[in-house]
Parts: sequence; structure tokens; C-alpha cells
Amino acid sequence: MGRHTGAVCRLCRREKDKLYLKGDRCYSVKCALERHAYPPGEHGQGRQKFTEYGQQLREKQKARRIYGVMERQFRRYFKEADRRRGVTGEILLQLLESRLDSVVYRMGLGRSRAEARQLINHGHFQVNGRKVDIASFLTRVGDVVAVRERCRNKPVFKLIVAAREQQGVVGWLEVDHEKLEGRVLRVPQREEIDVSVTEHLIVELYSR
Ligand code: SF4
Repeated sequence: MGRHTGAVCRLCRREKDKLYLKGDRCYSVKCALERHAYPPGEHGQGRQKFTEYGQQLREKQKARRIYGVMERQFRRYFKEADRRRGVTGEILLQLLESRLDSVVYRMGLGRSRAEARQLINHGHFQVNGRKVDIASFLTRVGDVVAVRERCRNKPVFKLIVAAREQQGVVGWLEVDHEKLEGRVLRVPQREEIDVSVTEHLIVELYSR
């Protein structure tokens, strides 16, 4: 199955939670979840009762949708998290946060992860001075992520910075919006990752 190309607001409605997939719109009254806070489809407003498996599945789907990762790749992140020493669920989220598209979004250089992904794919970013056009590239502590010199004058970056500046930047990143670049200061702790995912349910799902 390929990447989701339908209406993304339906994904938020399915999870009954804001996944912030559409940039500016997510912070406005136009957010679909403000108006239709129930799952899409004919039975969306009916009573919903999840089994234990159903709850685990929903958490996994929610995390996948927030980070825009396909199932196979998501499972690979889980395997890697499971292999490392520490709390698997937390490491899983740290891996997802360290993806280049997520870092660009967190730095305020993309209004959504999808937009960040597109800008990266179009070759607008570099890491430690070298062009990187792979959104799943995993950044490390100390990496310097920047808009490439030749792309800095693009009007889209002015619009993005203006839209994202009020939201501030997370503490584990350092950003210079004038220079359109930032640095990964450290690995984020769980409390610094503001995604409403109950990660231990994902671990339980994959440990079945
Ligand atoms: Fe989700 Fe954003 Fe659509 Fe609201 S506007 S439903 S937060 S994608």
C-alpha cells in the first residue's frame, strides 16, 4: 500500500485527536476536528468500543500518521528501538523525532512534517554542509541542519518562518531563523516530545 493521498483531516478524525498534519490550518477554527470531532464515515458517530488489540493498533496508526511513516519503515524503527538499551517506546519516539523531516518541522522551517518532507525532497536542505534530500535521514547530536545557500531567498521560507515563529522551538534544538539553520543539541527526553501517543501500547502490539 502506498502513501496516504486522501484528505488528511480524516486521519485526525479517525484518531479523534489533532495530528497537526496541515500546518497553519491546524491552529485555526478551520480545523476539521473542531467541527466534526468524530470518526469519518457512516458509522463515525456510533458507539465505538475497542478491544485491547484495537487500542494498541490505534496508537500505532496514530504515531505512523503523525510522523508520515509507512508500516514497513515504522516496524524497522521499532526493531532498532528494541535492539537499543533503554525504554523501547521512548527510543522509538526519539528515532522518529530525529528524522530530518521531523527536525526541520521542529526547527520551524516547515509548517508541517509533510511540507518539510517536500522541501527536503526538492533538495532545499543540507546537513553539516552537504545536501541531503532524503526525509528519513536520521540526524545526530551536533548535526547542523540548514536551508541551502541557493534556496535561502525563496519566499516560501519567509512565509514558513513567519507562521512558525510564534510557536517557538523545542529545547533540544537551537535555531537561527535569520540564517535558516539550526543544530541538534541533544536527544529529546520523552516529556519534550509533545505527541499524544501512548507508546507502550505500540511496544505491546509489536511484542505479541
Ligand atoms: Fe488535523 Fe490539522 Fe486537519 Fe485539524 S486541520 S483535522 S489538526 S490535519
